[in-house]
Amino acid sequence: AKYAGGNTFRFFTEAMNLSTIERLRLENALRQAIANNELSLHYQPQVELTTAKVLGVEALLRWTHPTLGSVPPSRFIPVAEESGLIVSIGEWVLNEACAQARRWRDEGISGITVAVNLSALQFRRSDIVAKVRSALDRCALPAGMIELELTESLLMHNADDVMRTMHELKAIGVKLSIDDFGTGYSSLAYLKRYPVDRLKIDRSFVNDVANDPDDAAIVRTIVQLGRSMKLDVIAEGVEHPAQLDFLTMEGCHSAQGYLFAKPMPADQVTPLLYGKRDP
Ligand code: C2E
Ligand code: CA
Ligand code: CA
Ligand code: CA
Repeated sequence: AKYAGGNTFRFFTEAMNLSTIERLRLENALRQAIANNELSLHYQPQVELTTAKVLGVEALLRWTHPTLGSVPPSRFIPVAEESGLIVSIGEWVLNEACAQARRWRDEGISGITVAVNLSALQFRRSDIVAKVRSALDRCALPAGMIELELTESLLMHNADDVMRTMHELKAIGVKLSIDDFGTGYSSLAYLKRYPVDRLKIDRSFVNDVANDPDDAAIVRTIVQLGRSMKLDVIAEGVEHPAQLDFLTMEGCHSAQGYLFAKPMPADQVTPLLYGKRDP
């Protein structure tokens, strides 16, 4: 790490790529993480703006290592992706999210979706459809309870393969969304053909939406795009009432962010889902 004087030290170490040694150290530790029960999922509520009801949650991976402590996804997900470990980790996430969805259903909570992040590497493997199906079957879960979040960058390569896999997943009955929408370069012509259910507006556009006219224009455009293509639109990273006001005014369907709730362990989210409990 470079010492740049004052508090810029932290800035440089975080912005720089991890050193080879640190990467190896993380990779080796991560290799043991599943077997050692170090992984867990937190769940962040997604809220419908017109009703303030919780419609579902996004499952977000957490890793607590016995000596490294809690390692943020921004550090270990890239290592997991480059090492290929994301495939087995992602499979664990899928199964765990389905198991939790099953527990919620058993508590009488229905009509929610549990969104799971899929990495490009996972998505491109030929067995992804079978893995999703077996995760659902194992928990006897209605497929509509699970949503798979795909990043926009994933959609840009091998359009035909991507399209086929998406159609196979839709045929099972899971929902599909495009994560971090607006940050990639997906062609709008393709967007029309992809069988997606919703767009997630990236946090970077939501951040400044109340002050920056460019960000406001981008968010407004995505909301209108969703409306005309009959896709739900959810804004992520909503932290301030002014952002919420803007999104509500523009007719954005739903939102997710610290203003409503942080990602938290399942047992803490459960009470927030009681509105979805069968009478
Ligand atoms: P993401 O999919 O875009 O997830 C949203 C991130 O924004 C999460 O960070 C969440 O905690 C954070 N967030 C939510 N609301 C707010 C807010 O109001 N303000 C701010 N500043 N942040 C907010 P997290 O949990 O650290 O995850 C980071 C990224 O790691 C995720 O970005 C996703 O790309 C990846 N990731 C997390 N879990 C998984 C997983 O199970 N599989 C895969 N492949 N990637 C995952
Ligand atoms: Ca996501
Ligand atoms: Ca996102
Ligand atoms: Ca994001």
